[in-house]
Amino acid sequence: MPQYHVAPLDNLVDKFESLQGIGHKSAQRAAYQILNMSKEEAEKFAKAIIEAKEKIHYCAVCCNLTDSEVCEICKNEARDRSVICVVEDPRDVFALEKTNEFNILYHVLHGAISPLSGVGPNELRIKELLARVSDGSVKEVIMATNPTVEGEATAMYISRLLKPLGIKVTRLAYGIPVGGDLEYADEVTLTRAIEGRREL
Ligand SMILES: [Zn+2]
Repeated sequence: MPQYHVAPLDNLVDKFESLQGIGHKSAQRAAYQILNMSKEEAEKFAKAIIEAKEKIHYCAVCCNLTDSEVCEICKNEARDRSVICVVEDPRDVFALEKTNEFNILYHVLHGAISPLSGVGPNELRIKELLARVSDGSVKEVIMATNPTVEGEATAMYISRLLKPLGIKVTRLAYGIPVGGDLEYADEVTLTRAIEGRREL
């Protein structure tokens, strides 16, 4: 039985399906929602994609995403400039900022060292980090890369570069999630929770 196809619709569904985490059914739903939009709405939608691609780039200082030369966090004079928190992904900055705990600066690596995926130190924004700390104004670097094999390797690699410069390198403590149950925590999580314990 021949299947019914509309080429531009197939194309739109394919585009959505090419996004990570979007399956065929979700892609179809999204495509139909776009077809049901007014022409004006659809144009706004397309324009938002193009505008984001054109205007967003890496901050000249911390490599976070921004639409200006230097991002709002780096520009903020009220931030403690002696501490830099190193993360893998711009989304990590958003997550840490939500805690309101940090009034410091960040540095976004855009990945982690992963020999299996062909990602070496040169593929990450490590050179930019070293350039930032070279004037001696940075006293502490908090390694907030993910608690994965790659994240750990990256944290170790960078700490070996920073320590000889007299910079204190710390690592985020990882542990039991709030509301979690000790019984269900895996060994790695438990080990990290014990390592990261603090005095009450
Ligand atoms: Zn910045």
